[in-house]
Amino acid sequence: MPLTSVFKDTSLSALSGVLPFVFANMDVAVIAADAEHRIAMVNRKACDMFGYDEVELVGQKARMLYADPADAIELQGTDSMDTDADPEDKTVVINYRRKSGQSFDGETLVAPIDSPERQNLLFLVFIRDVTHRLATEHTLSQLHTITTSRELGFEERIDAILRLGTEHFGLPIGVFSHIAGDTCTVMRVIDPDGVLKPGMTFRFAEIYCSHVYNVDDVRGFFHAGESEIRSHPCYINFQLEAYLGATIFVDGERYGTLNFSSPEPTTPFSNQDIELVRLFAQWVGHELARRADVQKLEEARLELEVRARTDALTGMFNRRYMEERLDAELDRSRRYGNTLAVVLLDFDHFKSINDQYGHAAGDVALELFADKVRELSRATDVTARWGGEEFLILMPETDLAGAWNFLERLADSLRTIGFTRKGQRITLTMSIGLAIARSDDDRDTVVNRADEAMYRAKSSGRNRICLAVGDEHYG
Ligand code: GH3
Ligand code: MG
Ligand code: MG
Repeated sequence: MPLTSVFKDTSLSALSGVLPFVFANMDVAVIAADAEHRIAMVNRKACDMFGYDEVELVGQKARMLYADPADAIELQGTDSMDTDADPEDKTVVINYRRKSGQSFDGETLVAPIDSPERQNLLFLVFIRDVTHRLATEHTLSQLHTITTSRELGFEERIDAILRLGTEHFGLPIGVFSHIAGDTCTVMRVIDPDGVLKPGMTFRFAEIYCSHVYNVDDVRGFFHAGESEIRSHPCYINFQLEAYLGATIFVDGERYGTLNFSSPEPTTPFSNQDIELVRLFAQWVGHELARRADVQKLEEARLELEVRARTDALTGMFNRRYMEERLDAELDRSRRYGNTLAVVLLDFDHFKSINDQYGHAAGDVALELFADKVRELSRATDVTARWGGEEFLILMPETDLAGAWNFLERLADSLRTIGFTRKGQRITLTMSIGLAIARSDDDRDTVVNRADEAMYRAKSSGRNRICLAVGDEHYG
């Protein structure tokens, strides 16, 4: 109901007598001012908020309450005169000054009161101290900026949050800690004295964080020396009077704490402060969980990638990978003018090993061969299982003599790696075809020439190395 109708036939003096009772117990500061901006009435909350006694205010000009008198609102000119205005628009935030000189932000609503004889007989001004709320809103928007920034890495974001917290809570030390067993490790820290550093460890039971873990949530001490922890080792060792810390959870498991502290005591923490530090810790927890997920995904992706190019039985590269690699190596040898040796190797009479000793024996032979190649080849050689018992070796920057030399050693070594089945010693030989890549070779032409050489090795008695036709001029 509009105040105008309540006080329909009252005069200014009658109103001034009634109003103090109406607003006495209201938790909002209420000031009544006349059309000349002279204070006519204040309630108790207004006296508390501004730090004056009632007699110091009544009769004075309202401008004494403004931090900057230039901010003084034109009572007639505000939206508050417009009864149709959205209630949101009727409030303004004004910077006021207390008797102590300290300023604060007051959310202000002005309501004009008319009498039948006179418009704007009186203005009722309602003020709520929103300094803390505005600071919290500002900090929340800063937090949003930090947590959504794509430019900042995880540690930079943590540092930015620690900085934001030290500013908001007025506590100069900010710590992000990890707790495992009875050890607490400083992960990131802001410490103006430079005493605390990342990597430092403390015994968990002797630090403030233990009190945070005890409640599994937020814990604050605004004056530790006068609190129940004054005889606890944390206070005795560190002498931090103010401390505000929150537990960090990652996937429901405690990880550590995010905390802010000061050697000086402070004022009691507000609910908003408690909420804010809890929110900071929650974000850190989510980010840690997300990082762990990304890491697991990356590991899985890498493993998939390895599997996709590896032959399961021999651990060598598979044919698909070798085809890509062949293209790349041919390209490279052309670009830099390096020689590239391409070798095809096929086991001799492999079918008879399977037939006589079983498929598993054949598999063992393939694995033994792979081990041998790994043992003898250089790091730059690339070997793949090209087909069933057929292999391809790429030897970059290797000329004919070098490749031949290696293949002879490999063939000799193969003759020594037999194994025993059914009391029989099984030995292995291979037919090997070698080609040296030419500048006009593509993947198929060079492999075909190695293949032709390998079949020549087969047809000329097996267990030997043959060079592709014409390749004696290369390499
Ligand atoms: P050649 O000297 O003419 O090469 O005779 P070969 O018996 O080796 O003939 P070929 O190369 O044509 O035969 C390959 C045989 O290798 C046929 C196949 O059963 C066997 N084989 C292919 N892959 C595997 C495998 O993974 N494990 C086993 N145990 N045998 C395989
Ligand atoms: Mg064979
Ligand atoms: Mg074969």
